[in-house]
Amino acid sequence: MITYSLGLKNKFRGITVREGILFEGPAGWAEWSPFLDYDDATSVSWLRAAREAAYDGWPAPLRDVVPVNCTVPAISPEKAAAIVRASGCRTAKVKVAEPGQTLADDIARVEAVRDAIGDGQVRIDANGLWSVDEALHALKQLSRFDLEYVEQPCMAVEDLAAVRRRTDVLVAADESIRRAEDPLLVKKLEAADIAVLKVQPIGGVRACLEIAEQIGLPVVVSSALETSVGIAAGVALAAALPELPYACGLATVSMFTSEVVSDPLLPVDGFLPVRRVQPDQLEANRADAERTAVWEQRLSRVQQRSAG
Ligand SMILES: [Mg+2]
Repeated sequence: MITYSLGLKNKFRGITVREGILFEGPAGWAEWSPFLDYDDATSVSWLRAAREAAYDGWPAPLRDVVPVNCTVPAISPEKAAAIVRASGCRTAKVKVAEPGQTLADDIARVEAVRDAIGDGQVRIDANGLWSVDEALHALKQLSRFDLEYVEQPCMAVEDLAAVRRRTDVLVAADESIRRAEDPLLVKKLEAADIAVLKVQPIGGVRACLEIAEQIGLPVVVSSALETSVGIAAGVALAAALPELPYACGLATVSMFTSEVVSDPLLPVDGFLPVRRVQPDQLEANRADAERTAVWEQRLSRVQQRSAG
């Protein structure tokens, strides 16, 4: 078992360093990396996902490669366009509604991405930071860039449903599924056209496949900003879904300044291969003793909670 610490090239979700625990079981390597602002109760499902990876392995894949989008943080238009061009991906996801920025910043960034990707797909993610009115106003301005969908425009499921009723842009639910007590509320309230599923928060590949079946919406598999070890679980989910109509948000290891494997899960021409990984760069990316202690204590608390 090792605690890793990886730098991020750009601030993302308010963080510049990503940490987590990697461990190996009979089925392979596993990652447990709930974000630091998540409490122990929330982190239990992340542990279920890691145990599945280590001890059970994943269902048989139905495909050899999965299409992925590049992710554009809330950065300048020039940097945004450069990320899109360097990625080789035919779909880009652009972060919008960043605190401290304006709609004009979002418009400039989305426009630059649209120009850079040509006739590819552009989707945006507001991480629930808009009100209903702000979302409708922003979508009116941004829809001219031909959006594939808007992810989590508002936080509350009811607000998501309100936006969906009043815009032509497709709505994807992310936080409304993975942080909700009832992930199927999105379906009941007809709040989304697309379900974003993440393996760790939902509790494993099989748990995601179950939700996908129950929710009855097309699925976009996304990462929780994991190392290639965690990304491999997302790839396994994408490979096991009966239908995969959209590019997945799994091309995120390029956001790190280093990686725990020498052959990271990076896209080639917009696709990731379906495979597991063997971390061979652990020493160089090991967290210091203090951070390791923090994570080991956290893991032992969450283990106790999941046992009890
Ligand atoms: Mg999201």
